[in-house]
Amino acid sequence: MSDTIFAKIIRKEIPADILYQDDLVTAFRDINPQAPSHILIVPNKPIATAADVTEEDEAALGRLFTVARKLAEADGLDQGYRLIVNCKEHGHQEVFHLHMHLLGGRPLGPMLASSQGG
Ligand code: 5GP
Repeated sequence: MSDTIFAKIIRKEIPADILYQDDLVTAFRDINPQAPSHILIVPNKPIATAADVTEEDEAALGRLFTVARKLAEADGLDQGYRLIVNCKEHGHQEVFHLHMHLLGGRPLGPMLASSQGG
């Protein structure tokens, strides 16, 4: 499997604002934040997309949610936040190492722009 920028961040080969790391996941701030809080939470295992997850990944995928909850609390996102996983081309995924976006710190509006239609 080809390496991604996130694999290099997990291995601390390139700099990132890492907020949390354990045996299953790593969390760091997005380099191009779309909200006052924009954190990426990634499994350490290089799963390419949400379409590639298997039952053996369930512990790491569950950990994404518990770490998201803790980091949201740490960033004071008590009014709520959004968790997003983009998948492949139609999901506008840019980095092919599965990751959860944690976005918050302001009202985020509807999930999809209404002008983009259904
Ligand atoms: P995607 O579109 O794949 O769901 O999101 C990829 C995210 O990774 C984007 O929000 C982008 O800003 C972020 N990103 C891309 N390269 C880097 C990087 O080198 N460092 C950090 N911290 N974030 C990155």
